[in-house]
Amino acid sequence: MSRDSRYDILFEPMKIGPVTAKNRFYQVPHCTGLGWMRPRMLADLRGMKAEGGWGVICTEFCSIHPSSDATPYPGASLWDDGDIKANALMTDKVHEHGALAGAELWIAGARNANLFTREVPMAVSSMPDMDGNPYQTRAMDKEDIRDLRNWHRKAALRAKAAGYDIVYVYATHHYLLAEFLSPVTNTRTDEYGGSLENRVRLVRELIEDTKDAVGDTCAVAVRFSAEQGGGGDSNPVPGEHQDMLGMLAELPDLWDINIQDYSLEMGVSRFVQEGSLEPYMSYVKSITTKPVVTVGRFTSPDTMASQIKRGIVDFIGAARPSIADPFIPKKIEEGRPEDIRECIGCNMCYTGDGKGVPIRCTQNPTMGEEWRKGWHPENIQTKKSDSRVLVVGAGPTGLEAARALGQRGYDVMLAEAGRDLGGRVTLEAKLPGLSEWARVRDYRETQIAKLDTIEIFRESRLGVEDVLDVAADHVVVATGSAWRRDGVGRFNLTPATITAPDASIFTPDDIMAGKSPKGRVMVFDDDSYYMGGVIAEKLANEGCDVVFVTPSDNVSPWCGYTSEQTRVQRRLIELSIEIITAQGVSAYDGNAATLNCTYTGRATSVAVPALVLVTSRTPDDGLYYGLKAAMAEGRAGAPKTVKKIGDCDAPAIIAAAVYAGHRYARELDEDVDRDNPMKYDRMFFEDTV
Ligand code: ADP
Ligand code: SF4
Repeated sequence: MSRDSRYDILFEPMKIGPVTAKNRFYQVPHCTGLGWMRPRMLADLRGMKAEGGWGVICTEFCSIHPSSDATPYPGASLWDDGDIKANALMTDKVHEHGALAGAELWIAGARNANLFTREVPMAVSSMPDMDGNPYQTRAMDKEDIRDLRNWHRKAALRAKAAGYDIVYVYATHHYLLAEFLSPVTNTRTDEYGGSLENRVRLVRELIEDTKDAVGDTCAVAVRFSAEQGGGGDSNPVPGEHQDMLGMLAELPDLWDINIQDYSLEMGVSRFVQEGSLEPYMSYVKSITTKPVVTVGRFTSPDTMASQIKRGIVDFIGAARPSIADPFIPKKIEEGRPEDIRECIGCNMCYTGDGKGVPIRCTQNPTMGEEWRKGWHPENIQTKKSDSRVLVVGAGPTGLEAARALGQRGYDVMLAEAGRDLGGRVTLEAKLPGLSEWARVRDYRETQIAKLDTIEIFRESRLGVEDVLDVAADHVVVATGSAWRRDGVGRFNLTPATITAPDASIFTPDDIMAGKSPKGRVMVFDDDSYYMGGVIAEKLANEGCDVVFVTPSDNVSPWCGYTSEQTRVQRRLIELSIEIITAQGVSAYDGNAATLNCTYTGRATSVAVPALVLVTSRTPDDGLYYGLKAAMAEGRAGAPKTVKKIGDCDAPAIIAAAVYAGHRYARELDEDVDRDNPMKYDRMFFEDTV
């Protein structure tokens, strides 16, 4: 098949200064949790996107000098010539497929305390470290500014030597250059402070320096915020930023436009919809003739084409859509947009940066595994036997296992107890704001329907005898887990004291099944990720008077890694939910809950007629152990192998479930070296200077 002509515009080559992108698909800089530490994994990750058809592929934030040290966040670096080799690995992979490579040179400012290098952090003025460390920056003097320009120039030259085609001046996201632009943080009285012209001076100088250093062969891009901020969601206040953009309009070769507020710019789908930056972009193309790119979690080719036809942007920028599906351009080009694995906007991919570990994606289990496991997002090795495989449970784990086994060519039976496929994703997608999560199911259902190797059996809750009747060669148990009703979790390592057997106690499973309490209710969130907050929101929407209790010091702290914590807590406050922090529920008598302070242990009693426990989950592994026993007894119809995977093995995030399903399918009938289950990447030790 060939592409729909409506999308031709997406495949037009575009000139960016001295270089030309082969199409308008532009992977903007995004973190991977790999950076300078894992160069081979990173090179293959970026190379995969080039293979998938993206015209431009950028790095993550790339530090120019030890005085911009992001440790423990693993960004890229171009500190010395020893870094060139690692970066060249990436540019080579990108060039192999005819794409351009871009380096986002980064200067920290007051957002990093240089904990690894111990260089004194520098900023526009003397400021506290905004990452919360007990450090303060040195206000840069003229010599510091001269040094900085010199380091930026040298990093640009190294970028060129490493093979990059586009070199960035990064002037947003509250880093150093944004601090210079802002009248709030820039309190200088010299020629770099005060007037607009003065505050823009350093950005202008760096653009000119970079053009001078590498502009003969490299395009110079500027990452810039379209708004000065303060208007709230979808209510841009361009303010001075419009004037600044006007002053610099024709200087760079490309404008990469975003906004300062990460939680909106890369907002989770619970709070932010596709194309949410469009209101902020309205003026940008009218004041520059240079190509413009922005993001918007675009997964629909119609929306992409419309953005360009309506003159909002010249390039379709993407971080997350290119993570969930590195092959979006190819799929559009080949006329099969229904195969796009659409990003669900959960921001699990962003957690690698905050945690200092490799990126993972809920939708794309191969993300980050391209080099160390040799996994390809579209291709998989063919089956090694004619075995029949029974997959029990069609949640994200079972669906992905069945899909990938079917793709390998195995004869697959997928049995699901319920009528609907999708397991927890189908249920959770009905919670407030989470509807896009159903894409985890939808992508797999669409792909399974295209394969004639997979047969689905709905409303088929299988017990041991049923499985033996099927007599499959291999059985994979993906039966999920159930939320606990006894309070066991991090706070209560043993069951809470429940003294009334008929107490109104609910779990998220009850509420997702439509069994909600009425009136006043306490939600005890010992899980710390999204579930507690979203259940509280649902109950408040249904008219309950909700009190939210957490042993943490704020609501849903793990949501900080997905950039949504502040929005979750704000939402609860706006819904007039009473929030009690640093307390755990240790006992409940049906009328009152006993709370204990996490610091002192001091007990208090709160009268409440219903309690929702969001604590931990019990794996549903009965079938697995029943089958193990049947195998040990040599029962007729027993499989050669049985394995439990996903939540019924170890309850976790949806990304772990999809990964477990994919891994099972990849490893069936393969020799897996348990001692060295993956290649181990690490930075280069040779050739450093
Ligand atoms: P995971 O995240 O590991 O995929 P889920 O809880 O989302 O786990 O999905 C488990 C699925 O397994 C659910 O759809 C559930 O209905 C199904 N299931 C549980 N037990 C059985 C069984 N014995 N036979 C068939 N399906 C089952
Ligand atoms: Fe999208 Fe979630 Fe994958 Fe990130 S982890 S790319 S937000 S599906």
